[in-house]
Amino acid sequence: MENPPRPSAPLPLLLAPSPPTSPALRSLAQGRALERRVVSWSDLFPLGDLDAKISSAIKRIRDEFPEASKTCIGISSKKKQCRLKLSGKSVQTMSHSIQEILKPQVFLRDEVLEIWVQHLREAAFCCYHKNQCLSKAAGWIKAIKTARSLLESSPPPPDTADATNKTTPDQLDTVSSTLRETAKHWKVTGYDTSPLRILSSESWNVKDWSSEKYQDRILVVLENLEGEEGGGYVYVYEIKGNEGYVKVGYTEKTAQERMDEWSETCNRQITGIYPRPVDLERRIQSPALIEILCHADLRTCRVRVDCEACLHPHSEWFQTSPQQAVGIVEKWSRWIDETAGQPGWRDEMKAIVLESADVEHCLESLLQIKICDDWGWNKSKLAHRS
Ligand SMILES: [Zn+2]
Ligand SMILES: [Zn+2]
Repeated sequence: MENPPRPSAPLPLLLAPSPPTSPALRSLAQGRALERRVVSWSDLFPLGDLDAKISSAIKRIRDEFPEASKTCIGISSKKKQCRLKLSGKSVQTMSHSIQEILKPQVFLRDEVLEIWVQHLREAAFCCYHKNQCLSKAAGWIKAIKTARSLLESSPPPPDTADATNKTTPDQLDTVSSTLRETAKHWKVTGYDTSPLRILSSESWNVKDWSSEKYQDRILVVLENLEGEEGGGYVYVYEIKGNEGYVKVGYTEKTAQERMDEWSETCNRQITGIYPRPVDLERRIQSPALIEILCHADLRTCRVRVDCEACLHPHSEWFQTSPQQAVGIVEKWSRWIDETAGQPGWRDEMKAIVLESADVEHCLESLLQIKICDDWGWNKSKLAHRS
């Protein structure tokens, strides 16, 4: 369809001089006219400053779509939202598809829109609720068409003096086919190797107790040691594409199981560094306490990262070498081995934690306990230490 001559007064968008008579052709023509309008508006206005009508249509569409979710968006037979966890790949597919669908060049082109909606519906449901995806997708498309109708009453863009700058139907065809091909072949393949998105780091670098509530957390872990019967594992791993950062955590499952779970939910290729291969099955006592002591000891290189695959910020990452992290895990594991067998050790540890002015002094005092030849706790020693 050629550009219609522009009338002097705002004209309902879709009236070309000789409107096509067949509904299918009319719909195509309407789509084209709408598309041209959006393209003209985006040409005329600086980036991000689109027509209010378009913004409002995007908002309407946004409201109709689910947020990217880490759990299945299906509804169970008891009318409750299914909470089954989706893989990191599925969550990333959802996020990306929603992002694409909200672009005018996509939501205005039925054939491109449908491909992205298909990606979205295939990612958003668990295997038990896949049967709900078609009706859900039909609902999304209907909602988009309603929102698009908002645009039809928008005024045409001001006339541009230079008619040669206008987008031609051929150019629009090329754009359409490129968008269609991109959508068709898009897929999250392999593991995510992009750099970690660091949210913050400097706030961890303070040594006083206010940082990350180390004091409270150590006391809580000490209180709950009784309930921790089977022990567990402290693990350290790094991920492909982010050498120089390590994750230090603990689990009551096996370290391998936990690392496999992280790999699946965060869609990252994990290289386990600790426990060493020969110790992968060797459970240790008080892993939660070792973990918190390691986190406190590594506090100056702690970073908080955002994860777009599990949609959760992770705060157990450290910008340090694997050797440094493993050294610290081994240090506190040995400390627990040597300390936790002694009578009254928990009360004494609690006293040190409460009496120390800050994290640094607390860790120093705890380490001094280890090197005491005679295991005789008394307040004078504690006073000497702090
Ligand atoms: Zn489900
Ligand atoms: Zn994650």
